Amino acid sequence: HHGYIEVIVGPMYSGKSEELIRRLKRAKIAKQNVIVFKPSIDDRYCKKNVVSHNGSKINAINISNPKDIYKYVDEKTHVVGIDEVQFFNDDIIDVIKTLADRGKRVLVAGLDMDFRGEPFGPTPKIMAIAEFVDKLSAICVKCGAPAHRTQRLINGKPAKYSDEVVLVGATESYEARCRLHHEVPRD
Ligand code: ADP
Repeated sequence: HHGYIEVIVGPMYSGKSEELIRRLKRAKIAKQNVIVFKPSIDDRYCKKNVVSHNGSKINAINISNPKDIYKYVDEKTHVVGIDEVQFFNDDIIDVIKTLADRGKRVLVAGLDMDFRGEPFGPTPKIMAIAEFVDKLSAICVKCGAPAHRTQRLINGKPAKYSDEVVLVGATESYEARCRLHHEVPRD
């Protein structure tokens, strides 16, 4: 078997989960053994599923340590899906590489940039070593143009550059925006 790495990136709402789920479901139709992981930090909608904003879903295993993936994958596994890959530590890079070297098709989805517009966690390195990369866009909520960035809002206002990536206690929300309308105030 020839293994390979396939990556789906883009901002929030660009359809990464939707596309990941679509590809995984098609692999299942082709009678491939599929297993899906996501970081336990992401508990959007449902702890045990990968769920897209439009409601499609697929069963997934929550893990916090990338190396836990080895406990679930065996010779019979054909396809390994990983969603929200940006939240894993850099150990995920070697796990993905090792699985592909062992002949698995590794399908990865995640944010390529954080709310500041900077490379997010392990995603850029995974893009570099992947055979295939698809960079999706959402629709900018300000102008309708293709949106490649995620706007972070804290209590309704653009989050500042200096704000922590994880901020406890504030009401925060996210929007898809184009480069022109993406705001990251510096103080
Ligand atoms: P991601 O995993 O990239 O966050 P999802 O697959 O969960 O994306 O959700 C994609 C869906 O989000 C779209 O099919 C659409 O129904 C919805 N959506 C909401 N806001 C937007 C937006 N600004 N641009 C594009 N799609 C949006």
